[in-house]
Amino acid sequence: EVRVRFAPSPTGPLHIGGVRTALYNYLLARKLGGKMLLRIEDTDQNRFVPGAEQYIMDSLRWCGIEIDEGIEQGGPHAPYRQSERKPMYRQYADQLINDGYAYYAFDTPEELDAMRARLTAAKVPNPQYNSITRTQMRNSLTLPETEVQQLLESNTPYVIRLKVPRKEEVRFNDLIRGWVVVHSSSIDDKVLMKSDGMPTYHLANIVDDHLMEITHVIRGEEWLPSAPLHVLLYRYLGWESTMPQFAHLPLLLKPDGTGKLSKRDGDKLGFPVFPLEFHGTDSETGQPTVSSGYRESGYLPDAFINFLAFLGWNPGTQQELFTMDELIEAFSIERVSKSPARFDQNKVRWYNEQYLRAKPDGELAQYLLESLEKQGISNVPADKAEQIAALVKERATFPADLAREAQLFFQRPTSYDEQVISKKWNAQVAGTLAAFAQELPAAADTTPDAIKALLTQVVEGQGMKLGQVLQALRVAVTGAAAGPDLMAIMSILGPEETAERIQAAVT
Ligand code: GLU
Repeated sequence: EVRVRFAPSPTGPLHIGGVRTALYNYLLARKLGGKMLLRIEDTDQNRFVPGAEQYIMDSLRWCGIEIDEGIEQGGPHAPYRQSERKPMYRQYADQLINDGYAYYAFDTPEELDAMRARLTAAKVPNPQYNSITRTQMRNSLTLPETEVQQLLESNTPYVIRLKVPRKEEVRFNDLIRGWVVVHSSSIDDKVLMKSDGMPTYHLANIVDDHLMEITHVIRGEEWLPSAPLHVLLYRYLGWESTMPQFAHLPLLLKPDGTGKLSKRDGDKLGFPVFPLEFHGTDSETGQPTVSSGYRESGYLPDAFINFLAFLGWNPGTQQELFTMDELIEAFSIERVSKSPARFDQNKVRWYNEQYLRAKPDGELAQYLLESLEKQGISNVPADKAEQIAALVKERATFPADLAREAQLFFQRPTSYDEQVISKKWNAQVAGTLAAFAQELPAAADTTPDAIKALLTQVVEGQGMKLGQVLQALRVAVTGAAAGPDLMAIMSILGPEETAERIQAAVT
């Protein structure tokens, strides 16, 4: 059975890169009939942000990413929050020590700083605690065993480090990148267990992925450098035969391609990088902050998800619109790209337009009625709202645009487009429009086509052509030079209201 996990750390709001990771995990799980887990990786208590966990769950729910096992759902491997699994990790650290793959290190922060300073002075490019430097430090590989015992018994603070071999090639097959080969000399002796008894991300992540029977680890490219270390851990714990497959997703870049899209970019670049609005605190000033979210900005979850799916994946066809079910059907890891994906603001808006306009007019009418209500415009009949929604949706990107575009139906023009007036308005045009206004109230048929026929008849009767009056008529009825189909506008306004507006304009 395929089992995948989304394993965020609750250190702040989930950003769209995280949502994409969750989405690809979910698509694979559903495609292959497997399970999707949500595991909260909260072993780093210093970086814990209150509310972040709830935010993550609310975001996934809004996106339609369903969790099969997790902190809310429970499951056979509960608990799914690492801080609650603390007692489980120790035995694996001990096992690694007993098997000679890990060791105690008693170095104080000052000693570690001094080591780094020494290496920096000697121009070592990347100072590390590793197979070479560990020989000069205070750990259970260098100290006599009796001293180690003494230190442990006297409760001297220590960490447990992985003993990374000096000369070994570590290789694994990434489902997206192919073979990744790393020389162990570039990996440091990572801390597995901190002095407070908490495991680090690396140990907890491997232990949990093993215990939770994870088959595929799908995560962001920033974790690629950690993967060789993880491979060593699987090997040393004796779990290599059931090691999950790795898939490291391509980076998300800023719209101009100049670098990684970061959490801080959002409101700076003028679009949200978070699924939901996030209320946080500025780490420097302590002041409350609000970061904008896709939901609050008027994006529809289906559009947002469709857009995100294409940031790093494509179906290999021309089709761009996919429901979640269609994404599940079409998705495969093989079609995830190795190269970074560039965020495209226009594209996400385009997706929103497609999804908004595809909604049934009745549903759009509901949005419209709600927004109008907020502006104090009530008593709009449902069928009228539906007609308006159907007409103006072609000009809307967000639900709120519907009400903006609908204003012309509830407000008579307060001014007239100057350009049109100066170019298209003259006595003859005004006279023709006045004649049309006179005929209108008696019209039996008020469909757009019938109104057009009536208009044509009046215009031709005055010896003019339709093209000579249309712009002027639009300005008389709406005030603006452009807008939705004019015949449809007049049809919805009705003959009386239209006639009154024309009369007001011609006198
Ligand atoms: N807790 C890690 C994160 O926040 C998870 C990385 C992984 O999936 O292994 O991204």
